[in-house]
Amino acid sequence: MRVHAYAAPAAAEPLAPTIIERRDVGPNDVLIEVEYAGICHSDIHTVNGDWGPQPYPLVPGHEIVGIVTEVGAAVTRHQVGDRVGVGCMVNACGECANCRNGDEQYCLDGMVPTYGGVDRDGTVTQGGYSTHVVVDAGFVLSVPEGIDPAAAAPLLCAGITTYSPLRRWGAGPGKKVAVVGLGGLGHMAVKIAHAMGAEVTVLSQSLKKQEDGLRLGADHYHATGDPDTFERLAGRFDLIVNTVSARIDLDAYLGLLAVDGTLVNVGAPAEPLSLNVFSLIGARRSYAGSMIGGIAETQEMLNFCAEHRIGADVELISADQINEAYRRVLASDVRYRFVIDTATLG
Ligand code: NAP
Ligand code: ZN
Repeated sequence: MRVHAYAAPAAAEPLAPTIIERRDVGPNDVLIEVEYAGICHSDIHTVNGDWGPQPYPLVPGHEIVGIVTEVGAAVTRHQVGDRVGVGCMVNACGECANCRNGDEQYCLDGMVPTYGGVDRDGTVTQGGYSTHVVVDAGFVLSVPEGIDPAAAAPLLCAGITTYSPLRRWGAGPGKKVAVVGLGGLGHMAVKIAHAMGAEVTVLSQSLKKQEDGLRLGADHYHATGDPDTFERLAGRFDLIVNTVSARIDLDAYLGLLAVDGTLVNVGAPAEPLSLNVFSLIGARRSYAGSMIGGIAETQEMLNFCAEHRIGADVELISADQINEAYRRVLASDVRYRFVIDTATLG
């Protein structure tokens, strides 16, 4: 089926309207009429070629919410009319140790990303900035009632990418958690860590968004542009989640961890980061990374967000505003996620 979409024609070129082909619905597939697609900073890194060459033209978008309009003969977990979501991956081998462990994102055979990858049928995947998408039912999540569908879209990447490390490293009552960068991921990290019961601190470049940060659930808010911050908060945190899309001075942030504390990097800048090992040795600290989350964990996150009435703070845009939204994300001028109303795609 031919559907309307927005694609990057080449690296770093503005996105433009296009028509793409979606495969026929196979026995295990679900056809989704997309309602909303979030704009993740990863879309921008990818389109700009920050992470290496891409198969252009490329339709980004891995924060997808929509309605099921057709299911394959073998599909039992979703029905026509259901509100569903799709995140950053649309397939994985299902058989390796990691897949069997619910870590499909770390599939040993390579998970299939929602766009710019090669699906198991050999076609190049194209993402959610489109009116329809066909996805293997095993990678389609149920969006619970009670979350506004536009506010639910960013949960499929920003939500799970922050929920997963917060859970793994034990964010909860009695734990001091810092979130570096108050953008799309950062604002979800604040909401989720607060709902888990942790004491939450935002570390942002300036105090410009302080009022928002406290409203979102932070207990404290500090500017990293102020060198005093790093002295005052030294040795304080059990867990730091770094969501920054650019390079940061890791040693400065590691110095904010308590003994046995962990700094988890979810931000994925193009350039390598370096650190002085004494920043770790000096207080038995860990430096870790984390990529999205598994499918079962993503469903758990959606249910958690519904239970705690958590959605993203979104600015709904039409398709012709996508390029402007990209510029604003790059300028850290987003409060806190742009979401495309896909009815405007054509
Ligand atoms: P975003 O909305 O642009 O937020 C990033 C925030 O980082 C900005 O709002 C800003 O916060 C801060 N920042 C930006 N440039 C900075 C700089 N030069 N120095 C210091 N702080 C800076 O982006 P996002 O969508 O949340 O994504 C964040 C990063 O996570 C991206 O690299 C993205 O690719 C990556 N990501 C990773 C995963 C994963 O699975 N690991 C998943 C999704 C996204 P303040 O204004 O508050 O300082
Ligand atoms: Zn993303």
